[in-house]
Amino acid sequence: MAKDKPLFDIKKFRVGEDRNVDLAKWPTLIDPVYDSKDDYRARLAERVAALSDAQQKLYAGNRHALLLIFQAMDAAGKDGVIRHVMSGVNPQGCQVTSFKHPGGAELDHEFLWRSMRVLPERGQIGIFNRSYYEDVLIVRVHPELLQAEGLDPGKDADAFWAERYRSIRGVERHLNANNVHVLKFFLHLSKEEQRKRFLARIDEPEKNWKFSQADIVERGYWDQYQAAYQLCLSATSTEAAPWFIVPADDKYSTRLIVSHIVLDKMASLKLAFPEVSAARKAELKAIRSLLTL
Ligand code: ATP
Ligand code: MG
Repeated sequence: MAKDKPLFDIKKFRVGEDRNVDLAKWPTLIDPVYDSKDDYRARLAERVAALSDAQQKLYAGNRHALLLIFQAMDAAGKDGVIRHVMSGVNPQGCQVTSFKHPGGAELDHEFLWRSMRVLPERGQIGIFNRSYYEDVLIVRVHPELLQAEGLDPGKDADAFWAERYRSIRGVERHLNANNVHVLKFFLHLSKEEQRKRFLARIDEPEKNWKFSQADIVERGYWDQYQAAYQLCLSATSTEAAPWFIVPADDKYSTRLIVSHIVLDKMASLKLAFPEVSAARKAELKAIRSLLTL
């Protein structure tokens, strides 16, 4: 079977605008989108090659930028997706930024500031491993974090968060209007699969480094996180910057699905190497003759 034919329809992972997301109804596991481990490898290799090709054209054309945002609960596989899907991409055309707990100057500015400073230039793919969405996720789950930003949600907390969603929609609309195309991925992991992955991080010495005490603490807030994600996904999936809810219990399927969505977007941009004019061709021919001696 041709490896570039996906075994799924991308649309089923996309959150429609103004849709009320109930995460319990979105699968964390689906029938594998590959036939075997070898088939997975072949499909991913094919996608990685296509992505590398598309990225060269993005870079050469210098008209569009892509911003890929990854959000998830801990151990959902963000790092693996980024590593595998982007493995064929020229590092000069791609920049990954990981957003951790903010400090210093970051807290002294409004919440979008630190992300806006590292937006991708034209011709580039920017990847956010976590993002300004943390400011309506972890911060909504732990609103006391706002104190460090000099803020207080006040009596009408819902209105406070609604304003943040509005800011996000506005900035993403602005980016889209200026050819910065934003795709957002929520890697949807089940609580049971997270438990298994945490246990592996404890039991397997080569995975010990990945284990963090803080992850267990946040796991205790699982339901609050799911609620915050639901509200956020419902409020911020737009035509200009859609969310995709990608099942994350099977890492191979997750990677193939993300790679297809990214390529589908790049295909829609009709990327091509810049046209060379007849005059320029003649000029190149003249220069070529100088190189024959
Ligand atoms: P990994 O664990 O795979 O290395 P990670 O993305 O979980 O990757 P960590 O350093 O473990 O990285 O965690 C980063 C933490 O920073 C997360 O708990 C995240 O919620 C938190 N964080 C990110 N942005 C903000 C923010 N704006 N406000 C508060 N906390 C934030
Ligand atoms: Mg972590």
